[in-house]
Amino acid sequence: MIAILGATGSIGTQALDIVSRYPDRFRAVCLTAHSSSEKLFDLVRKFRPDCAALNVEPDHIPEDVKFCQWFFGEDSTVRALLASKAQDALCAIVGIAGLDAVWAALDVCERVLLANKEALVTGGALVTAKARAKKIPLLPVDSEHSAIFQCLQARQGNPVKRLLLTASGGALRDWTKEAMYDATVRDVLKHPTWNMGGKITVDCASMANKGLEIMEAHHLFDMPAEKIDVVIHPQSVVHSMIEFTDGAVLAQLGMPDMRGPIGYAMGFPERLPYDATPVDFYKLGHLDFAAPDYDRFPCLKMAIDALKAGGSMPVVFNGANEQAVGAFLRERIPFGRIPEVVAHALGAVPQTEIKSIADVYAADRAARADAENTLRRLSC
Ligand code: NAD
Ligand code: MG
Repeated sequence: MIAILGATGSIGTQALDIVSRYPDRFRAVCLTAHSSSEKLFDLVRKFRPDCAALNVEPDHIPEDVKFCQWFFGEDSTVRALLASKAQDALCAIVGIAGLDAVWAALDVCERVLLANKEALVTGGALVTAKARAKKIPLLPVDSEHSAIFQCLQARQGNPVKRLLLTASGGALRDWTKEAMYDATVRDVLKHPTWNMGGKITVDCASMANKGLEIMEAHHLFDMPAEKIDVVIHPQSVVHSMIEFTDGAVLAQLGMPDMRGPIGYAMGFPERLPYDATPVDFYKLGHLDFAAPDYDRFPCLKMAIDALKAGGSMPVVFNGANEQAVGAFLRERIPFGRIPEVVAHALGAVPQTEIKSIADVYAADRAARADAENTLRRLSC
């Protein structure tokens, strides 16, 4: 019995593809979405969950989806999850908006499958401490973290020296700094190797995504920022690597398809075959690797510095970035202004300690307020 939170999104629909391949193994008992009601109605018709939720209540509920229990409003995801009695929760909501659902899943589920990286970036130590205290596995769905988690199965108690997160470099990988500044929404959403939701695709182009993933890896694998490196790898075949103290490096490879890491978390420890394209090394010929360029991708550097600064700074980075990305997608600011909005918030919002989820939301509100001020200044 699995709840798919954020069922209409890129991760949610790919998770449902795995569900439909294994009907004897999985039943989707809870499906939720923000506002895409028609899409959710179709999924409800197909997967027949017990509970469904929409943050934005639609004008009309079709007769043929009324068999399940519906929840509407801001906290509808959490209420639907609690009512569904799901054993597993796949948390695939985008942004800090998914934090409450992750927190609630840790109260009622046996396993939490985590795609929603912003919940860890912001809730970080609180989320991992709760999972540890309740002995609930937090299974990574993000491809890099799944790769590291898979490599760690071969650790045999040995210490890990370094984590190497690979990064495609996003849609603007080879653009000059000047050209990047005015990249359009269309340019940015053309990701070279992955097909994902809008927010994460923009984050890939600015490499804020890799910064968020460093924070995510820090929390999931208890590694300091200094021991997490980023390697640009345009083909997205090596999904990430771990290095041991004897210099040995283990990597997990596969053609880019999120159903790999999603299925690994769903079936863990068993692997669930799907129609994956095998890696054809003869056809690939070569795999490329390079160092990240902090000058063209300042968001990556700011994220690393925010993690090192600690306290509320990762929350501020995330909140300001979410606000700036939203503004870019609505064409309020050029792409090149995203780092400016984030940098301003990091410099202006006072650092606080994070001791509770309320502290997280306070820091998030402060970051968004500062970002909104900057946006008003920049976009008028
Ligand atoms: P998406 O935009 O395609 O889907 C987001 C889902 O969350 C939708 O179902 C939407 O209705 C729901 N949602 C959005 N805002 C919400 C809110 N305020 N309250 C409740 N529900 C809300 O996003 P995605 O690409 O599937 O990404 C989801 C998460 O997974 C993100 O945190 C992303 O970073 C992470 N992730 C995605 C991929 C990928 O390949 N798409 C890869 C790695 C990690
Ligand atoms: Mg990733």
